[in-house]
Amino acid sequence: MRMRSSKVNEFRLWGLAMTMGGMLLMIVGLAGIVFNWGTAGRIIAVIFMIIGMISMMVSMGIYFWAGMLSTSATVIDCPECGRRTKMLGKTDRCMFCKTILTVDPQYKSDADSEASVEAHLPHFHPNRDHEHKPH
Ligand SMILES: [Zn+2]
Repeated sequence: MRMRSSKVNEFRLWGLAMTMGGMLLMIVGLAGIVFNWGTAGRIIAVIFMIIGMISMMVSMGIYFWAGMLSTSATVIDCPECGRRTKMLGKTDRCMFCKTILTVDPQYKSDADSEASVEAHLPHFHPNRDHEHKPH
């Protein structure tokens, strides 16, 4: 699996998408009650609402987990667009321009599927000295 976005953004996107999906399912379930489709409608409504609630809870968990991950992520200035981005693990992509960032070329063999992609891209060495820069 190849991530086209930065990992933090990817998790947030999925968390949000699943929350929306869960809400949509619950709305569909409610429609079963509102339009009075009889016993079958009520059973469908209950099933949809349970699935919706579970997926909402799971996705909110993912969303909060992404938030926690982003606090532990390394904050760096992207060498391509100069904006501040967060980096998860040894290899990640910039949140804004999707440039692949890697801590050190020596970790290249450890990096997952992105290793082949980053081979022809310039490597970036995060420098925490820039962190005094005001936001
Ligand atoms: Zn960038």
